[in-house]
Amino acid sequence: MEEVIKGNIKSKLKLLILSGIHGDEYNPCILLKFIKEDTTLINFLKDKYKSITFLYNVNTNGIMNNTRESINIDLNRLYSYDFSDIDNIKSLINKSTHIIDLHSSPHCDNFILINKTNTANSYVEFALNNNIKYLLYSQYNQFTIKHQSQLLNKVSITFEMNGLNKITINDVINAKHEIDKILYNLHNIIIKEETPKYQHQKSINAQFDGIHYIFNNELVCFSIDGITNISVIEDGFIVTYPIKGYYKKGESVIILQPINKIK
Ligand SMILES: [Zn+2]
Repeated sequence: MEEVIKGNIKSKLKLLILSGIHGDEYNPCILLKFIKEDTTLINFLKDKYKSITFLYNVNTNGIMNNTRESINIDLNRLYSYDFSDIDNIKSLINKSTHIIDLHSSPHCDNFILINKTNTANSYVEFALNNNIKYLLYSQYNQFTIKHQSQLLNKVSITFEMNGLNKITINDVINAKHEIDKILYNLHNIIIKEETPKYQHQKSINAQFDGIHYIFNNELVCFSIDGITNISVIEDGFIVTYPIKGYYKKGESVIILQPINKIK
């Protein structure tokens, strides 16, 4: 469902926010509803943007069937397909200057996902300046809405939050605090093309076989034989948490975003 709010006719900026590209990601659908219902925020956005377009519950088929994909098509690889259902989204993207695509994962904190491309420095600095959590990612997919719209010179952000398959309302409330920082500041971002200069994500791998968990910023491994091994996690932001209990040596347990300072 598409809804357009008209804003400041003097502005050249047009904001597009999408939710439900992946059908089993329900928290982003409710996050977008919360954004829309925040009248203080909407009035702020109406002053900064010429229009604000909400594209709710995009993947209706996936949403109704609790599946990520829509009839076996991953809509966040939509630039690898070409047919009419998708043309509407592409045309909205073409008409917009600023795009925010809302997603969720089963085991993560709130963050913006920044691809390590030639515009990454600007997004990292935007996050650092506004105290927004982020992940600078080197293994990105080039067919996503974010990546392709950035190639079209749009300001484009993927926002990730926790939760899959159902609504976990506290996650939505937490995510609203984080997305507010983005929405109140995104109109100010200036994108420059440069060689990426910030540290990207680190995978923290299991050192031993065992049950793994994070406690007090340490990775604890409790083996079947009852032996505890602790490794200190270096300074950084834990972006994804363990998705299961038992890991074998060498498996990736968490993703960490190392600390960056503005250079
Ligand atoms: Zn997603």
